[in-house]
Amino acid sequence: MPCRLDSPASVGPAPATPLPEPLAWIDRELEELAAADLMRPRRTRLGRQGREVALDGRVLLNFGSNDYLGYSGDARLVKALAKGACAEGAGAGASPLVSGHSAAHEALERSLATLLDVEAALAFPSGFAANTATIAALVGPGDLVASDDRNHASIIDGCRLSRATVAVYPHRDVAALDTMLAGAAARRKLVVTDTLFSMDGTVAPLADLAAVAARHGAMLMVDEAHATGVFGARGSGLVEELACADGVHVRVGTLSKALGAAGGFVAGHAALVEFLRHAARAWIFSTAHPPAVAAAATRALGLLADEPERRRDLRCRAEAFRAALARGGIDTGAAAAQIVPVVAGAPAAAVAVAAALADEGFFAPAIRPPSVPEGSSLVRASVCWHHSERDLERLTEALLRHAPRH
Ligand code: PMP
Repeated sequence: MPCRLDSPASVGPAPATPLPEPLAWIDRELEELAAADLMRPRRTRLGRQGREVALDGRVLLNFGSNDYLGYSGDARLVKALAKGACAEGAGAGASPLVSGHSAAHEALERSLATLLDVEAALAFPSGFAANTATIAALVGPGDLVASDDRNHASIIDGCRLSRATVAVYPHRDVAALDTMLAGAAARRKLVVTDTLFSMDGTVAPLADLAAVAARHGAMLMVDEAHATGVFGARGSGLVEELACADGVHVRVGTLSKALGAAGGFVAGHAALVEFLRHAARAWIFSTAHPPAVAAAATRALGLLADEPERRRDLRCRAEAFRAALARGGIDTGAAAAQIVPVVAGAPAAAVAVAAALADEGFFAPAIRPPSVPEGSSLVRASVCWHHSERDLERLTEALLRHAPRH
């Protein structure tokens, strides 16, 4: 039985006051979400992420984080963070263009450029900001941006923010993309894709995307948020793993997942980064992310080089886990990495599977629209380095009891 802890949640929320008339529509919206099984309750965590997580007073085996290499609670990162805070303070105090760009950010950007084997990198307060600001800087009215229909929300929002014409192509459908680009008259063309898709765990066909982009003179931008640290001999992501660097012009990533810290980055040619420093509004007009966090992320980049066995172990365990689920007749779609979706269909079905797992001591969240398309709700199990083979066997057994089978 999972044990219970005292948590701030046990105090309970403050009583709600009636909404003033101009806000009454909010109650109706919330009622509609509840009726469609789409309410998203927030859980309060106590302590660090790790193999286990204490959520709302329950300690569960944690399959619901993006801490793929187990670095977010690692003492070495925490020490780097503390040292960075002592040297440079708690906050950056200003945007990077004013006085917020610290020695820690400078070191981080240099380390990122080295890892990705590019000329330059630019650190952002978050991966979300990196995507929105970069897309809106690269294209505008009169341009075309082509985006995979399963791209992350930050890419979708970046496309909207840009005011370029947005062409959404079916998931990983290179032929459809080719047709869209061929028919488009635009000043500039940009193709943008996740490399490892965050919800269904599929991999983008990068070589084919690069070939199509090249044929149409389009820029290719990729978001390596879930692949950074996991793929590639050096751990820089799928561009490295698939040897596609020459065809990819803009590489975005996050420091918040496998790297265990926070913040985002864009990397590529020095001129691209120089341009973004003059055009990426979330970089220009937002306070730089805390220098201590940059120091922790730089430490994680050092660990990526020192501990390649973590990504190897993680990928082996994830592969074994996916194979065990497939043998048991559980549908994980076309997942090919550490993100393992268990397809449930309706939102209520996904919520029921997640609840049954939690009752047995596992945390794996239900993912519902708009995070996934209608009818494709799922339970998302993220395999991390700190999971043992036995942990994964136990989760497999629980899923065989509770997940839909075909
Ligand atoms: N891109 C993808 C594919 C993501 O999944 C996420 C985070 N969920 C982001 C970007 C945003 O990164 P961050 O959390 O650093 O804002």
